[in-house]
Amino acid sequence: MQKERIGLIDKLQNYCIHDGEGIRTLVFLKGCDMRCPWCSNPESLTMDIVLARADFKCEDCGYCVRVCPKGAIAADYTLNTGLCDMCGACVKACPKSAWSFYGVEMTPEEVVAAVEKDRAFYAKSGGGVTFSGGECTMQSMFLLNTLKLCKEKMINTAIETNGNAPEHVYEALAPYVDMFLMDVKHMDSAKHKEYTGVPNDRVLRNIMRVASELNKPVMLRIPLIPGVNDDDDNMEQTAAFAAEVKETGNLRMVNILPYHSLGASKYGVMGMEYTLDETEPPAQEKIDHVLEIFRRADVPVQQGG
Ligand code: SF4
Ligand code: SF4
Repeated sequence: MQKERIGLIDKLQNYCIHDGEGIRTLVFLKGCDMRCPWCSNPESLTMDIVLARADFKCEDCGYCVRVCPKGAIAADYTLNTGLCDMCGACVKACPKSAWSFYGVEMTPEEVVAAVEKDRAFYAKSGGGVTFSGGECTMQSMFLLNTLKLCKEKMINTAIETNGNAPEHVYEALAPYVDMFLMDVKHMDSAKHKEYTGVPNDRVLRNIMRVASELNKPVMLRIPLIPGVNDDDDNMEQTAAFAAEVKETGNLRMVNILPYHSLGASKYGVMGMEYTLDETEPPAQEKIDHVLEIFRRADVPVQQGG
């Protein structure tokens, strides 16, 4: 586990209802060991603070170029990262909020203080905090410290994880996590590796271990990506796996998450290529068909957001 007390946070998001039970505050931690092309948070993939400009917001006023004390922004608005010292003058000066920092350093105490502001919503809805990303276990020691603090404050906790952290990480986190949200992206290990960069062996093993040996409630999350994992054969295998998890007594729900392209514009902002331009969201008929496959396997299933 990494030892840092400071965490690198992409953002906090309030009043979320799709990432665990009740109304939840989402804490997005930076860094991820997978590279799924459908990721809607590409700004959270790397473990650094990034300054980037959303071209589509820019009105060409030139303030940022003039205000930069380091001459780091060229006339065509390209950023010289070697000159930039992250002073933030451009971010403050831009009238269209086109420049943004992606990533902020926070202590566990600062995160929990921010999360506690939503406490009234947790009480009424049975909600709490969900740590997401990126992949929240990439900052495992910071996550552990923050989870411990949440439990001291009696805040319900969930983590949303790709399932690929070393076993001992889940073991250390488990006493402080009320619910594990774990992804199954593909049942074929070679295809899992092709699309995410890593095989699925450890992922599937960790899910079973969290639900059985660690005896923690699990919500399975299945991204439904046309042309990637949405064929009947893969969905049947995924449903059979979910049925195995159910045998442990700890499967709370399977969430089918239909593909959307809402994060696509962020790829350009981050200077990354979005490779699913041609992919359309699945039709409701297709989603209903997949839900039926899971119902036939006798597992609790719902369409997620
Ligand atoms: S953060 Fe500061 S140094 Fe960097 S580009 Fe903006 S104004 Fe220039
Ligand atoms: S200050 Fe903002 S709107 Fe003006 S040129 Fe720079 S990025 Fe564009």
